[in-house]
Amino acid sequence: MLQRWSVRSKLLAGFGLCVLLVVSLGGAFYTRTQELSVNARLLVDSHESILHLKTLEMDLEHIGLDPSSMDQQLVNREMDRLLDLSESEPNQHQRLQRFREILKRRLNPPNPDEGRRLKAETQSQLELLLAEERLLLQQRQENLAYGTDNNRIGLALGTLGCALLVGGVAGLIHRDMARSVQLLVKASRQVGQGDYSFRLAVQGTDELSAVGEAFNTMADQLQVERQKLLDVQADLRSSNLSLEQRAEELLQRGQEVHQLQQLMELLQSSSSLEEAVKLLGPRLSRLLPGSRGALYFLNQSRTVLELSGSWGLEETVEPAFTAEDCWALRRAKEHVAPPEQPELRCAHWGDSQNQWHSCSPLLAHGEVLGVISLTYAEPPRDSQLLRSICEQLSLALANLRLRDSLRQQSIRDALTGLYNRRFLEESLQRELARSQRRSQPLAVVMLDVDHFKRFNDNYGHEVGDQVLQAVASYLQLAVRAEDVVCRFGGEEFCLLCPSLCEPDLSLRLEQLRQGLEAVTVSFQGERLHVTASFGASICPLHSTEGAQLLLLADQALYEAKHAGRNTFRVCQQLVKAGASGESKAE
Ligand code: GH3
Ligand code: MG
Ligand code: MG
Repeated sequence: MLQRWSVRSKLLAGFGLCVLLVVSLGGAFYTRTQELSVNARLLVDSHESILHLKTLEMDLEHIGLDPSSMDQQLVNREMDRLLDLSESEPNQHQRLQRFREILKRRLNPPNPDEGRRLKAETQSQLELLLAEERLLLQQRQENLAYGTDNNRIGLALGTLGCALLVGGVAGLIHRDMARSVQLLVKASRQVGQGDYSFRLAVQGTDELSAVGEAFNTMADQLQVERQKLLDVQADLRSSNLSLEQRAEELLQRGQEVHQLQQLMELLQSSSSLEEAVKLLGPRLSRLLPGSRGALYFLNQSRTVLELSGSWGLEETVEPAFTAEDCWALRRAKEHVAPPEQPELRCAHWGDSQNQWHSCSPLLAHGEVLGVISLTYAEPPRDSQLLRSICEQLSLALANLRLRDSLRQQSIRDALTGLYNRRFLEESLQRELARSQRRSQPLAVVMLDVDHFKRFNDNYGHEVGDQVLQAVASYLQLAVRAEDVVCRFGGEEFCLLCPSLCEPDLSLRLEQLRQGLEAVTVSFQGERLHVTASFGASICPLHSTEGAQLLLLADQALYEAKHAGRNTFRVCQQLVKAGASGESKAE
């Protein structure tokens, strides 16, 4: 606690005490000095009394038994003086008065004898008075010496007391001030070290208390400012955190947009819908983290949604379902089913428990293309992202479908569904390059339906078309997966058979020929049989040029026709061994 009294009050109190002490000492000293002065006067009186007594003694020795009036006056004067001087000492004064009586009788004796006796008596009395006065003198001298010593000691003690009082007051003031200053220093250190709640206990109105109050006000202000600073710091921290979160979100959104763009580019660069679908699964799982899901597309006949790809659902995923089993497809908009509302879950999800489910339709120009079905352990995070994925995906898939359909139209023959001649030319170049790269042979087979014109002529063009479709279906089933079957034009077909050469080629041609013999077309209850002639050439045995191989195969076909039809011929041009097939239908 800072001091209660002001420094000035303490100084004034100290000064007052000093003055009081000095005045007291001065008064005592003055009194003592007065006493000393009286003692000194008494001492002088004693000396004078002794002197007068001596004088009186000498006078009395000279005065005879008949003193003159002058002697009497002289003695009376001496006695008057002696009586004056002894007034302060009553005993001596009484003795002197008795002596005066004796002396009066001595100066006027009734007779000479009495005069002599009185002379002796005055003499003895005078000696007694002198002795008494000398004793008195000695006492007064001692009193004076004692008083002087006392005065000296009193003065010394008074001076020492004053000095001690002044020193004590100064010490007390110093102690109080030092303690207050120490408290202030301690408080300043506490605040300096960050303890802004430290306050000084202030009581009083002195200067240091004012400093203490000013310090407390400063500490209050500092505490308020510090709190404001802390609040600002907290605000800044939270702003910083939200900015970081926002930046994180933006970064994530940027990455998602980048991934989405990449996916769209890939989809647009995909050569077919199948290729595009293969790309989707793993990329959607990255774009929608925390999700497991599947992608379904409406099949060609637009009746069933078939599974195109899935992630995280390998065991439980439904391979196909109808549009009726999906809320999203029925409502043509996104559908979310929380775990606590299983009745809202689409039928194709089966019995999956405690999961969020969502289905988002893929729509293009109002037409359903497919659906993205997702399941989450937590509520779906970002439906906006999912919506834009669906929109982009629908657009890209619609484009791919259109492109695929245009491409199919451009490379497929409308009547038979086989590849057309244009595709054959592309494929021939590709297959030739591949066979050369792999050092594998490639057989080129030309096939021409025998007497096809007769079907048209005898049964009509439609039957002719049916015959062409039947031949095409048979060829598609009969060839290997790696073989390419094309309609070359009219009733002519062409086969590209990689890794096939003699003698297997002849065996295959014979199988095809015989298989085709079994193909029939019904017309008004009649079973119409079909046969065909085959001609083949082999790369690199006969040529490595596509056009040349086709020409050689066609020449071989011509030979087969010439040989009576329903047979095959392999180009003989450069064939060393007589391995050419020669089969004739019975
Ligand atoms: P060959 O045994 O010598 O091959 O005799 P062919 O009758 O099969 O051959 P030809 O060249 O004389 O006749 C082919 C006929 O095929 C002529 C043409 O009208 C017919 N044709 C071509 N394209 C089509 C088609 O798409 N549909 C139908 N129905 N007929 C077609
Ligand atoms: Mg022909
Ligand atoms: Mg023909």
